[in-house]
Amino acid sequence: MRKVAIYGKGGIGKSTTTQNTVAGLMELGRKIMVVGCDPKADSTRLLLGGLAQKSVLDALREEGEEVELDDIRKAGYGGTWCVESGGPEPGVGCAGRGIITSINMLESLGAYEESEGLDYAFYDVLGDVVCGGFAMPIRDGKAEEIYIVVSGEMMAMYAANNISKGIVKFAQTGSVRLGGLICNSRAVDNEKEVVEAFAEKLGTHMIYFVPRDNDVQRAEINRKTVVEWNPDVPQASVYRGLAKAIDENKRLEIPTPLEIEALESLLMAYGLMDAA
Ligand code: ADP
Ligand code: MG
Repeated sequence: MRKVAIYGKGGIGKSTTTQNTVAGLMELGRKIMVVGCDPKADSTRLLLGGLAQKSVLDALREEGEEVELDDIRKAGYGGTWCVESGGPEPGVGCAGRGIITSINMLESLGAYEESEGLDYAFYDVLGDVVCGGFAMPIRDGKAEEIYIVVSGEMMAMYAANNISKGIVKFAQTGSVRLGGLICNSRAVDNEKEVVEAFAEKLGTHMIYFVPRDNDVQRAEINRKTVVEWNPDVPQASVYRGLAKAIDENKRLEIPTPLEIEALESLLMAYGLMDAA
């Protein structure tokens, strides 16, 4: 089973990209479990058709030791398993711990057993590895293959660079590796070129370029992935392409994060930032 985590700045498109890619992987015959690791608990909405999902932490709070797999795992589009780890009460406790509690609970209830036939577990993790909590899935080896969603916007690349620093830290003692950058376009000038150049400096590759397309919103309003909502639109093929690229990806590297000056020079070289 491949243990994949999707990281990236908040609002960059992690949950959208994860679920649409998972729908594409499902079409390739893969059996997948998606685990939302964001207190927002919106990582599985498109796969579940908007159905309310009881989070693992809520189930634990309400049922304690009595929790069963069916309480926390629901079948979504194409039989994909959907889990939301949930979060602590706002302002109390560390959401990162909640993620580990959830994964441990799934493990002890047998969700990862051979007999479940999973090809992939996908973790959709809230943006900020600077907080130790959200690094837990990679620190504890729960996720081994990381994809970072990025765009040509400076703050998105800045976040991707920081996430890469987190990966380096845990790669030395564990099996976590960077699988690539997914460019989720914000229609910035020279975006593909700058993200490709950034990826090269990071010692990885831009595994796919996802254009910005309003069909993503149209599908989202209908609480569906694009692939399910309208399999014939161009964006559905984009997500199938990304799914295939991940399925076939062999490049798993320890990244080489940039110094802030090098990141800024890169942005200047592509006309995205003025020289000081
Ligand atoms: P995150 O999980 O990183 O916080 P989301 O996946 O919730 O971000 O995405 C934020 C919004 O961006 C979503 O409402 C979605 O409709 C939109 N979005 C994401 N990717 C695209 C895209 N390729 N084209 C158009 N809209 C997109
Ligand atoms: Mg999200």
